[in-house]
Amino acid sequence: MEHRFEQLTPHILLMHAEHETDRPVLAAILGRERTLLMDGGNSPAHARLFQEELARRGLRQPDLMALTHWHWDHSFGMSAWKVPVMAHEAAADTLAGLSGLDWSDECLDRLVASQTISDASRKHICLEYGEQREIRIVPPDIVFTDRLTVHLGGVSCELVHVGGDHSPDSCILYVKEDKTLFLGDALGPAVYGGPRRYNGARFLRLLETVYAYEADWFVESHGVPMNRREFTADLAPWEQLARLACIHGSDRERMIAGMRDYLGAEEVPADLLEGVEYFIAGAGI
Ligand SMILES: [Zn+2]
Repeated sequence: MEHRFEQLTPHILLMHAEHETDRPVLAAILGRERTLLMDGGNSPAHARLFQEELARRGLRQPDLMALTHWHWDHSFGMSAWKVPVMAHEAAADTLAGLSGLDWSDECLDRLVASQTISDASRKHICLEYGEQREIRIVPPDIVFTDRLTVHLGGVSCELVHVGGDHSPDSCILYVKEDKTLFLGDALGPAVYGGPRRYNGARFLRLLETVYAYEADWFVESHGVPMNRREFTADLAPWEQLARLACIHGSDRERMIAGMRDYLGAEEVPADLLEGVEYFIAGAGI
């Protein structure tokens, strides 16, 4: 596949997201003394592709890993790296609860039934691993509650817990010298435990936190890197949806009318209409 890897900034090599089996972005932040890896990948096979690319380019392999949140697509490749992993305490707790499972079809059925994972996750896990699912969950080594700063030599990273609807353990990773903010999936809707949902007030708080960073690059784990202008433009209608949700609660008609006014259009695009449903589902949570 072309364009799989990209040197985004002087210290950052990233591997782009691949949607077929829900592989998120992986990134190596390369300092003079150490390399930090953002997320472990969705499988050892995913991890190996990035390891091979680092080797091909003669770059230092990761010395440690920062996990943005516990979700399978970010954590199931962890065992392939054999480096200390930094993770939020809630991520560590959830991963501890998942270790020792056999990941058979019955096991996946149970996890879907208990809403620990979604049907979409089950489908992607089966696609990524096939029939022989040898999945080994590794417990994180360095567990924190609020934030951690990591110096890599000439470049430093801040790992900050932000929470949010997608997953309460969500962290973002800011690479200061390269003005790059990795968002993980923090800005995504809740995907487990019911329909997709957003809480308006929580989403606005999170956006405020994110915009406070003087970042030039914003990288969401299942998207492409965006500069500040692109990122702001991408999020503006969602910010408006969140504001409308705060005013109108779960009044669908008023939210849609508000979006028509905001867009100056007769029709609200399908993705934003879906967004209205997410905010209605998340109004009371
Ligand atoms: Zn996620």
